[in-house]
Amino acid sequence: MPDTTSATTEATAAKPEADEAAVPEPKNLVARLADGTVVKRRIKRQRACDEPMGKKICAGHLKRWYGYGDEIVVMFGRNPEIYRCERCQILFRPNESETARTGTLAF
Ligand SMILES: [Zn+2]
Repeated sequence: MPDTTSATTEATAAKPEADEAAVPEPKNLVARLADGTVVKRRIKRQRACDEPMGKKICAGHLKRWYGYGDEIVVMFGRNPEIYRCERCQILFRPNESETARTGTLAF
């Protein structure tokens, strides 16, 4: 009798970086705005952008950002916790396993 009961634990945790070419969407993609801006989910404790840039990653700093428009408010609610890469300017949502920086949105 096969034992499959352990299959539900940490299924999304660590994936080997194998078939990157077959994945057109960025990792941790949350949404893509009408103007093409990518919104990603921060991995835990992430402080720098991990967007690929050629053979390297962007590594720009993620800064709390308040310059969003109505589209962001519709998607994530009023006063959302949004970070933006200071280099490539893609957007990040906080990781849900981390406490919100404001303390008011700790859902
Ligand atoms: Zn970046």
